[in-house]
Amino acid sequence: MPANILSGKMIADEIKSEVAAEAASLRDQHGIVPCLVAVRVGEDPASSVYVSSKVKTAGELGLRSEQIHVDADITETELADIVSGLNTRDDVDGILVQLPLPKHINERRVLELVDPAKDVDGFHPVNAGRLMQGHDTLVPCTPAGVIEILKRSNIEIAGKNAVVVGRSNIVGKPMAMLLLHENATVTICHSRTRDLPAVTRQADILVAAIGRAGFVRAEHIGAGATVIDVGINNVSDKDLARELFSADDLEKRFAAIDKRGFTLVGDVNQREAMERAGAFTPVPGGVGLLTVAMLMKNTVKAAKMRRGFFNAAAN
Ligand code: NDP
Repeated sequence: MPANILSGKMIADEIKSEVAAEAASLRDQHGIVPCLVAVRVGEDPASSVYVSSKVKTAGELGLRSEQIHVDADITETELADIVSGLNTRDDVDGILVQLPLPKHINERRVLELVDPAKDVDGFHPVNAGRLMQGHDTLVPCTPAGVIEILKRSNIEIAGKNAVVVGRSNIVGKPMAMLLLHENATVTICHSRTRDLPAVTRQADILVAAIGRAGFVRAEHIGAGATVIDVGINNVSDKDLARELFSADDLEKRFAAIDKRGFTLVGDVNQREAMERAGAFTPVPGGVGLLTVAMLMKNTVKAAKMRRGFFNAAAN
């Protein structure tokens, strides 16, 4: 039986309408309109698309948003001054610094300057530490979105074997922590893992956050597993696309390559996952949509936490 496709769109829309309702009640009952500020450095085309989509979604949900765009040759000190200024602005609830930053800027130093209370990306070490210790906090949006997909699709997590491939600070590690807090038995794999397919085949829930198009193949997937594909890769080679997609998907993929020069592809071979998995998230149309929805949710959460509506740090 072909795998059940877990649509990110439906779940993202559900979360966005919950956020819009919460924003409306904050506005009507307390006169608060949560505000997100996105800082974008330089001319990276993907960053420009991501930030525009975040700013647009905020507006649609009744949040305020601002975009600060600076030249790629900004110094680290100048960027730090912008972040510090946003930290002190009382009308700003969420600050995100769009990555990647130009090479001459130390990303970690800049991210650590963001006030943890306004860190809607959940990248600050204080929030990472709180997550590790199991306290409610601002959690990185992509892994938080994966948990929403699993829960809202009624996929049981407790007691299951979850395998996360990838150990980055923004996806793999927080993903593993969130699954652990949901009582999964969690294994984290990476480029030095021995016999990766043997490990990943044990997974009831397999999360791929690697950054390599179609890397996860049938041999990595246990029959009936839930496969969550976090990867976002551009593929312009039609022969590779033929490897990754079934015949009925190919026409659309080729059309995208002809039109834009590439098609968006995850870390999982979709054609093989379709035959082997019990359920999986497509790319596009899966986890990526949740990331923006969870950013909006974090912005409202930050606005409430900062005003003491609930005190996450005390949990
Ligand atoms: P990173 O490059 O930071 O991390 C990739 C991880 O994959 C590393 O831990 C690396 O291991 C591991 N890896 C690489 N090659 C292999 C291999 N052959 N076998 C096993 N593990 C391997 O990437 P990110 O975590 O930032 O992103 C992962 C993917 O998710 C990317 O495609 C990115 O575009 C996408 N992404 C999607 C988002 C969304 O909204 N859907 C948001 C953020 C990211 P090691 O540590 O040993 O090097």
